[in-house]
Amino acid sequence: MLRNCQRCGQVYAGGHALLCPSCVAAAEEEYERVQDYLREHPRAHIHDISQATGVPTATVISFLRDGRLLAEDPQLTCERCGKPIVSGRYCPSCREELLEAVERAAVVPYTRFYGTVRRRHKYYQER
Ligand SMILES: [Zn+2]
Ligand SMILES: [Zn+2]
Repeated sequence: MLRNCQRCGQVYAGGHALLCPSCVAAAEEEYERVQDYLREHPRAHIHDISQATGVPTATVISFLRDGRLLAEDPQLTCERCGKPIVSGRYCPSCREELLEAVERAAVVPYTRFYGTVRRRHKYYQER
């Protein structure tokens, strides 16, 4: 199956990979460089990491968001409540709430339908 590399845009044959083989190698290499730097400077900030390793800040952030890297200082913010976090996309309490929301999701369409029916019923009553 042919795909477009998400990084360099080149067409390549690859099953489920998002990047072409040469970008996978480059990303691995960048990841290792950042990891090495973080090991020596665990409290380094994203901008320092980027400057020292030559890896773009967006890439460093994506490693942290993926949970592949852990920084000691929280430098990311929860995408839901904005609380500082060390890795991932959400803080622990938001993650818990989102998980619950997923479990409830199966029930939601029914409630929504039920809510509409009730509202319409009230509408008729008021007239
Ligand atoms: Zn590529
Ligand atoms: Zn949060």
